[in-house]
Amino acid sequence: MKKIFMPLFIILILVMSACGEDRSFIEDEYIVRNEAADQERDGRWEEVEGFLEMISEREVKTQRFYLYGSEPGFEKVPAVNFGYIPFYTNEELDIIEEIVPMANKNVRPGKMRAETKYIVIHNTGMASPVMTASRLSKSLQTSTRQASWHFTVDDREIYQELLLDEIGWHAGTPEGNNYGIGIEMAVYQGIDFNAAMRRTARLTAKLMLQYDLDLGDVKRHFDFSGKNCPQVLIESHRWEEFLGLVEMEYLGQKNFSDVTFIWESLTPAVLDNEGRVVSKSGEAASLRYRVRVILDGQERAYEFASLLKSLV
Ligand SMILES: [Zn+2]
Repeated sequence: MKKIFMPLFIILILVMSACGEDRSFIEDEYIVRNEAADQERDGRWEEVEGFLEMISEREVKTQRFYLYGSEPGFEKVPAVNFGYIPFYTNEELDIIEEIVPMANKNVRPGKMRAETKYIVIHNTGMASPVMTASRLSKSLQTSTRQASWHFTVDDREIYQELLLDEIGWHAGTPEGNNYGIGIEMAVYQGIDFNAAMRRTARLTAKLMLQYDLDLGDVKRHFDFSGKNCPQVLIESHRWEEFLGLVEMEYLGQKNFSDVTFIWESLTPAVLDNEGRVVSKSGEAASLRYRVRVILDGQERAYEFASLLKSLV
């Protein structure tokens, strides 16, 4: 019996030691791979933190400005920016399609863009309280003016009136019309203009990613034809602020689509969970807020404070 067991025993030991070597080899590789994954994840958290720093500007500005309209009595409507912090979330944009009937040749040139080079920002020159995005989109359906654009945005909604790759008449030059997607921001009396700006920025960033455009391709109507449009953004000196929002949305949509951001105001009497300043006092205040970030199954929380400047 011993004669049989001995070789078996030796074989068993050999097999075990071989397995042991394999296992230690696999474990080493596993550790290396894990370290690489950890490093990658640390890098991603650093990116997230840089992004959050960008959002949480230390000073939140407020200002009085004007909306401009062509309707009698609404030529220059006073408006107030009570301030906001652009809390970024990965919410999908809801776009309501109201494509103008092909038969309306004033609005539908019926030609497709050969190439998309620009996103052209406008604001409507209609400031009476009824001129919402919904109303504008409906009026475009039967419009007899030779004017058209792709999207109409306000503080609540987005409407699409032309096919995405179709040429519209909005920029005042062949270059702008033939190669640009036109977005109209509504500017009616009573609009939450900050919310409209943030929604327009989100849409702009989505289109930039879709067409591989960069921030320099986001243009004002003014850049093509010299028309004072988008007049509200230009005259209130908020164009750069708008581009900042577009940049944030672009980075968010490009780099953090798999990350969840949950914002909570820690000063709810002044700031809501959407980043909107709800206090209408115009007084300076401290804004504090927290964001929970979920990335790769890990959750971290960050707190920030910003100073709301007084309205002058
Ligand atoms: Zn325009």
